[in-house]
Amino acid sequence: MADDVRNISDLNKKGEWVSLEIKVLKLWEPTSDSISQSGVVADDTGEIKFVSWKKSKLLEVEEGRSYLINSAIVDTWNGNKQINFNARTKITPIGKNVKSSSGSWDIEGTIKNIIPKSGYIHRCPECNRVLVNDHCPVHVDVKPKEDIRVKWSMDSDSRIFIANGKIAEKLLGIKIENAKKMEEEDLNCLIQVKLISKKYSFKGREFENNFIIEDFEQVEGQDD
Ligand SMILES: [Zn+2]
Repeated sequence: MADDVRNISDLNKKGEWVSLEIKVLKLWEPTSDSISQSGVVADDTGEIKFVSWKKSKLLEVEEGRSYLINSAIVDTWNGNKQINFNARTKITPIGKNVKSSSGSWDIEGTIKNIIPKSGYIHRCPECNRVLVNDHCPVHVDVKPKEDIRVKWSMDSDSRIFIANGKIAEKLLGIKIENAKKMEEEDLNCLIQVKLISKKYSFKGREFENNFIIEDFEQVEGQDD
């Protein structure tokens, strides 16, 4: 049964074993020693986060390549769907190019509002969650990982736009070391002044109703 190739958009039963034909859209830095690879895979119906466990010793996948995945298991993490590759999973490279639903998109528009909790943040080194008072709800007391992120809304789009890490530094024109030294209020002010009502062209990908920025360009000649 697990050998019927399924659509990503149809995966909704936690614990179900499924087979998929996917393309690897993005690989992330593993957030834990037990993870071999994690990232986003897609077919023409949608995209989903995946995790491959180190102890399963599976074939490592490459960004942009297509694979047949047999016997992966549907899971949820932090309220979102994901697919786990474990010891029973078989990963086979396939010659055909699986069409992905999204990939990278370009969006142009004007930044409307900065969403709270933008700025200098601490993340959990295990799961990448944003920490509240340096406390992760799952991993409890952790050594926080510094990051900078900005979330905002656009006049032209209903999604939440997010820039993280290096791309957020570039967008704000400030290094994380300097952002860290600023009072929260001053940093918020800098973010507002730098971004609000400015017109940009963003390149990125959609993920769970958010739009994650991968590159950007400020659009000149805007009318005020
Ligand atoms: Zn955590």
